[in-house]
Formats: sequence, structure tokens, C-alpha cells
Amino acid sequence: MKDSYGRTIDYLRISVTDRCNFRCIYCMPADGVESMSPASILRGHEIVTIARIAAECGVKHIRLTGGEPLVRKGMVSNVREIAAIPGIEDISLTTNGVLLPKFAKALKEAGLNRVNISLDTLDPDKFTFVTRCGQLQSALDGIEAAFEAGLEPVKVNAVAIRSLDQDFLQFAKMTIDRPLHMRFIEYMPVGESSGSDGSGWGEKDVISCEEMRQIINERAVAEGLPPLEVAEDKPKGWGPARYWKFPGAQGTVGFISPVSNHFCSECNRVRLSADGKMRTCLFSDDELDIMTALREGGEEAARAVFEQAIGAKPKENENTIGTKRKMSQIGG
Ligand code: SAM
Ligand code: SF4
Repeated sequence: MKDSYGRTIDYLRISVTDRCNFRCIYCMPADGVESMSPASILRGHEIVTIARIAAECGVKHIRLTGGEPLVRKGMVSNVREIAAIPGIEDISLTTNGVLLPKFAKALKEAGLNRVNISLDTLDPDKFTFVTRCGQLQSALDGIEAAFEAGLEPVKVNAVAIRSLDQDFLQFAKMTIDRPLHMRFIEYMPVGESSGSDGSGWGEKDVISCEEMRQIINERAVAEGLPPLEVAEDKPKGWGPARYWKFPGAQGTVGFISPVSNHFCSECNRVRLSADGKMRTCLFSDDELDIMTALREGGEEAARAVFEQAIGAKPKENENTIGTKRKMSQIGG
């Protein structure tokens, strides 16, 4: 289905929960967000119904996210049911990876195609600092579990935050000897901005993709490695990343630049929050209540809201100061 600006919308991101087993400094307050009550959360069968309505409206790719999607019970059967929907060509999952050793194989068998694993640093102390409670090894085990289960291409996403002082080259080098696709994401003003004090977005903490690429290249050359070159073969995906690679490397290094270079003209997605709101743009607080429509008016009413959400997509993102909801509530 096309939106009002002629963009084809074929990608739905579904946040299945606002809960998480981490408390990343840029995504959640230290004591978490007030959890949504069970009655205000979409039930598994409602998620599947909305996914089917979306497919009937032309959605081909569904990404499950959160909060941490794997803390929600019943994800394997939800994936199985979504995979069986005619028209859905690709199902992916964004996860912090911790529960992948437990679920990766069953998810693959249920029809999950691939995963994106979020990992912001390879330094164990910084990892515990940024997640407020996590252990680096648990995320690394998640990456291995994804490869073992064949959830490929395996993509690893790091949000670049200046005050974290991440080693971008260390990440990029992981792509040389294995088909791992590292992606660096500019830190976005989502949630209330509160400065770069470790508790929210601050402009000072944003590093542009251009700067990240320069840093990687300078450090690579200093270590005797060649600089990155444009990747001809991109890993499968529906997103706005631009891919580079080290010559001869098995994997790629991608850059996603929502802050320095908006990709609104290529936007192909709508979002569904765990509490059943359609969000037309990550940066807009405008939401449409598809859960109430489904519960009170049935599938036809829900379809009307879905179509309305596509029609209401803004031309571009004009927000540079934050959003009311945090990423864990919207679904990153
Ligand atoms: N818990 C899962 C995870 O961490 O992958 C899925 C949900 S999380 C909200 C999805 C992604 O959003 C993560 O990769 C996270 O790093 C990213 N994210 C959260 N807040 C962000 C921000 N302000 N800017 C850029 N990315 C952000
Ligand atoms: Fe949880 Fe993901 Fe947010 Fe970290 S980024 S707190 S893992 S939802």
C-alpha cells in the first residue's frame, strides 16, 4: 500500500512488550518504566490478527521488537503463526541476545528468518555500565546462538554515543573472518532528552556516521588494514543502512544515519506498540489506537485504522528534541 507521498509501506515493526531484562542508559530509566497492565497489552492472537491485516494491506516484512521481545511468553508460537500468514516474506527479531541461547533454534524452526542483536560495546565494564545490569558474555553467547541456529544474516547493532568512547574498529574487525554484519546507528532523540549525563539523549553525544567511518578508517590504516570500501552485496534487509566492507571481508559494516541524514523519502514502515497503538513515524507522538478498534469494532475497524495510519504518515521527521515515549515503549 502507498502512503500520501507515494512511498510503498511494506514493513511493520511490532513491539511485543515494553519490559526488558536490561536497563540501557539511553533507553530506560534505572528503575524501568511503569509497566503496562496485562489488559492494556495486545494479546498474542491480536498481534497475529493485526499482522494478517497488515499483510493484506501489502506488508511483506515484520520485525518483532520491544522492550526485549524474548522476555514475552509465547514468542515461538507467535512467530509460527505470523510465518504462516500469506504474503509475509520475512520475519526478523531485534533482541539484546541474552535469551537467544534458549530460544534461537526453536525460533528458527518456527519460521523466524534472522536477528539483529544490539551490542553497544565490546568492553565488559562498559557493557555493564550501558545496560546497567548485563554481562558482555551473555550478548556474545547470543550472537553465537544466532549463527548456530542459522538465523542469518546475523546483524549486530551498536548505537554510537560519544561519552561511551566505543572502539568502532574493534567492532568492524569482527566482520573480517565471519559473515557478521556490523551496523552503527546514530544516537537518536527518542524519549525525553536530558543531556549527556548518562540518563537520556543529548546532542553532544551524537556521532555522525561520516565521523564514525573516518575514525574506523584512520585506525584501520594505522594498524596496517585497508580502509573500508563500498559493499556491492548488501545483507538481506528492509532498512536504510548504507554498507561498506573491508576488502575481502566476509561481513559488512553498515551505517544508519537518522540524525545527520534523514531517510524519510525512503521510509517504508509503520510501527505497532505493545499497547496497540499504530505509530506513523518514530519521531512523531501521533498514534492511532488499533487495539481498541479491534476489540470494539472487529477486524474491519482495525483494518480501517491500519489504513488510516499509512495515510497519516508524515512527509518527514521534523523532530529534533525527543519524544514522549522512550524507545523501549515505542519499539526500537
Ligand atoms: N531489547 C531489544 C534490543 O535491545 O535490541 C529490542 C528493543 S531496543 C529498544 C531496539 C534498538 O533500539 C536497540 O538496538 C537500541 O540500541 C536502539 N535504541 C534505543 N534507543 C535509541 C536511541 N535513542 N537512538 C538509537 N537507537 C536506540
Ligand atoms: Fe532493553 Fe533493548 Fe532498551 Fe536495552 S535497548 S533497555 S535491551 S529494550
